[in-house]
Amino acid sequence: MSQTSTEQGIKTMGVVGAGQMGAGIAQVAAAAGLSVVVTDVADAALERGRKAIGDSLARLVKKEALTQAAADAALARLSWSTDARAHAACDFVVEAATENEALKRKIFIELDGVCRPEVLLASNTSSISITRLAAATKRPERFIGMHFMNPVPLMKLVELIRGIATTDETYAATKALAEQLGKTTTVSKDYPGFIANRILMPMINEAFYALMEGVGSAEDIDTTMKLGTNQPMGPLTLADFIGLDTCLAILRVLHDGLGDSKYRPCPLLVQYVDAGWHGKKAGRGVYRYG
Ligand code: NAD
Repeated sequence: MSQTSTEQGIKTMGVVGAGQMGAGIAQVAAAAGLSVVVTDVADAALERGRKAIGDSLARLVKKEALTQAAADAALARLSWSTDARAHAACDFVVEAATENEALKRKIFIELDGVCRPEVLLASNTSSISITRLAAATKRPERFIGMHFMNPVPLMKLVELIRGIATTDETYAATKALAEQLGKTTTVSKDYPGFIANRILMPMINEAFYALMEGVGSAEDIDTTMKLGTNQPMGPLTLADFIGLDTCLAILRVLHDGLGDSKYRPCPLLVQYVDAGWHGKKAGRGVYRYG
């Protein structure tokens, strides 16, 4: 059996996608001392990621959670490219591109060709079958779901998802890496939405139905759930933070994968996404952002 990446030591981590999640994962990995290679399709996306990380590190320095020297060192460990071949240098690669199965399969076919055979590949997908994504590669046993939570620098959890072929070694190496990044892990079977979104997305969807049916205003729905069920924010605010496009994509995976009409996406959510109101990252979702 070939050595796993952890036995050899993961020194360089690859992150595909410089969006909300990719930037967060790259920041946490760089702050933990790893060299990080971030790729995205366009320079503008890389620039947004670089700015997001710079701003986030600056906030941590201001809060005295990090020294300026540590923030500078983390920034210096990051490199950026629009060429997926940059991942040839990586010991472990996590994909955090848009929640779209065809797109992710294409990315993994390319990574499989670029990365050394012993390198583990992980997807940060919120809901798509790890077994199916793994099957696009020639290394399904060295493939795993590594589902970080948003915002990555603040949220402690990483949900690990084992595909049907994921080996114990791959699981153990990924768990060790997540712990090295300061995270706590749980493990989920490879079912649509895994644990977190299987439970969270029906609540968000129901909040959209309540809004559509005029049961309450967006503010009243959010305040009721925040103060009434002791959550840090209401479900509509949370949906805006996650991205309404991402919420819709996850609901469609739940609906298609589980075949139960209780997961059908609320038409109002579909309409917001059609309008380009993708949430906080787009400046407008349920709420408007300055
Ligand atoms: P996002 O829209 O902020 O970023 C997606 C990024 O992927 C964009 O920068 C886009 O340019 C890039 N991209 C698209 N095609 C690409 C390609 N071929 N190669 C490289 N990059 C490509 O989305 P996000 O919120 O960061 O979500 C990314 C992934 O993380 C999704 O699978 C999502 O389901 C998952 N996720 C999201 C959250 C959340 O709360 N937003 C939480 C956990 C997991």
